[in-house]
Amino acid sequence: MPELPETETIARDLDRAVSGATIASVKVHRADVLRDITAAALSRRVAGTRIERSYRRAKAVVIPLDTNDRIVVQPRFTGALLVDDGTLPAEALSYVTVSFSLRDGRALAYRDIRRLGTVALMSPARFAKFDAALGPEPLDPAFTPQHLSGILRDSRQAVKKLLMDQRRVAGVGNIYANEALWRAGIDPSRAAHNISDAEAASLHAGLTSVLREAIEARGTSFRDYRDASGARGGFSGLLAAYGRGGLSCPRCGATLVDTSAIDGRTTVFCAWCQR
Ligand SMILES: [Zn+2]
Repeated sequence: MPELPETETIARDLDRAVSGATIASVKVHRADVLRDITAAALSRRVAGTRIERSYRRAKAVVIPLDTNDRIVVQPRFTGALLVDDGTLPAEALSYVTVSFSLRDGRALAYRDIRRLGTVALMSPARFAKFDAALGPEPLDPAFTPQHLSGILRDSRQAVKKLLMDQRRVAGVGNIYANEALWRAGIDPSRAAHNISDAEAASLHAGLTSVLREAIEARGTSFRDYRDASGARGGFSGLLAAYGRGGLSCPRCGATLVDTSAIDGRTTVFCAWCQR
């Protein structure tokens, strides 16, 4: 599922591609992806509005309009936001659930094969509530090692599960939780409150560095993740732990262990150098 780097890539691409564009009309092909709004109300409130910009919050792409409403898209497992300037192959445009036609002739299309992702239109008040339910952004300068220490100290949950809890830290999912813990040399199953301040500082460094490098590489490709032009991400070959169970640890050479013991999600770690 698209995590922080993949969503950041999509949001930045859209910011360049559609900021300032005016939405002419909306076509809803599959209303079951809509949240907080009906198809008719979405068309009524969005047609004729101008897209101010596009940015990311947690794992959502947020598109503020000049009416102060915000289109909020959460791609989840199989969603992709594509800018169709007429050159996208028909294959890329199958499974489009909602399409925003732009006045300049292009379209902003939300495609979702399994329709597990969502498209919402939020008023400023509704968005404030959505935003307040999410934890801090890990790449925000305000998110310091001390801040992470404080979050860890309060919980007896496995440190990996805590990292993936969107109410505690925003945008981190299974891929980057595995990678951050590998970088920090911390066993993912350890109780969060037992992580020392020094270890929390390593974890902060591991988390922020892997997220920055993955943004640089335009994300990790898996399943149906595509950026706004339909291309795949480049971080897959740089993963040290995620997806590498049974292969050797890039740091110490031991065989990486693959387990579902934490919250039923795939955890890959090195039992030798992650303590
Ligand atoms: Zn190792």
